Amino acid sequence: MSNPGIPATFSSPKRLLLGPGPSNAAPSVLQAMQHTLIGHLDPAFIGMMEEIKSMLRHVFQTENEMTFPVSATGSAGMEACFVNLLEPGDEVVIGVNGVFGARMCDVAERCGATVNRVEAEWGTIIEPSAIAAALEDCQPKLVAIVHAETSTGALTPVEEISRLARDAGALFLLDTVTSLGGCPVAIDDWQVDAAYSASQKCLSCPPGLAPVSFSPRAMDVITGRKTKVQSWYLDVNFLASYWGSERVYHHTAPITMNYALHEALRLVLEEGLEARWSRHRQAHETLKAGLAKLGLSIISQEGHQLWQLNAVGVPDGADEAGVRARLLSDFGIEVGPGLGPMKGKIWRVGLMGHNATTANVERFLDALGQCLG
Ligand SMILES: *Cc1c(COP(=O)(O)O)cnc(C)c1O
Repeated sequence: MSNPGIPATFSSPKRLLLGPGPSNAAPSVLQAMQHTLIGHLDPAFIGMMEEIKSMLRHVFQTENEMTFPVSATGSAGMEACFVNLLEPGDEVVIGVNGVFGARMCDVAERCGATVNRVEAEWGTIIEPSAIAAALEDCQPKLVAIVHAETSTGALTPVEEISRLARDAGALFLLDTVTSLGGCPVAIDDWQVDAAYSASQKCLSCPPGLAPVSFSPRAMDVITGRKTKVQSWYLDVNFLASYWGSERVYHHTAPITMNYALHEALRLVLEEGLEARWSRHRQAHETLKAGLAKLGLSIISQEGHQLWQLNAVGVPDGADEAGVRARLLSDFGIEVGPGLGPMKGKIWRVGLMGHNATTANVERFLDALGQCLG
């Protein structure tokens, strides 16, 4: 074989990550990742795991004992919820108003479940009345929706849909990947039975961990299964003994990622949830006002627009991909493209976690103005 030559040590360019994720990590989070490695059963690591679980409970606003980070990205958090709660032949109702609702359907089908899709136009929310209509025709084990649809910038209100699910005798599952740490999420008040998130969006930590939380009701379903969970790695019965008091070896937790999440959660607590949410709201409002001055607007449903992910309409005649490329090359700013039916029609501007500041919004608006001439 020919010698490929040894590349130089990789050095990453400086970027302001204003896309759909990852967002930039806070400097102290990156510093935490430089700590020396210890073993995953070291008492010091176990103590840190306990602190992570308790901080996660606070951020999720829950008392759920089974609250911990899955050792993988947000999609594995999604998969962990579905594979543990569903068995072949089960029925589910899933709200689909963007990419992530569609992904949930795919995952549920792979579990052997019958999926009833409740579709809504991309950019709009899932209406409780649409879920209610679906529940008239079936008796699902589970109702699932995406709280903050990162592909469209819409925030679906949770409480009424949760109540409908409960009244129908179903469990309620919520994707909080983009909402957690950026806007209110209240797992216990909203009676959510299973929720998953990701480290790299509004928690401002690198990608690699997926916080999850299961209610006692969900745990009863999981421990009472007739069949084995189809995924060995994501089986919550095993994960419970690894993250619980027994500390039975299952896999090797990514040590460095857990250092990072510990620091990222510490920063959330230090700032306070309310203050953090209002910082996200303010960044969004500053962006919205600035876009209006450029003759641009956010195209997702008025009254339900996400603070942390803004779907900015591409003006007629503008080169969607060209502007994005220039933002990156000339200004070091990453924004995301539209997906599916929104391809070429929007820029997705994330103002997540550490990045949700007026200074970043102004820097972006200035750069966008120059790119549009
Ligand atoms: C990003 C995202 C996911 C998937 O997370 P990954 O970390 O990319 O695997 C799932 N749901 C929503 C709403 C997301 O924004």
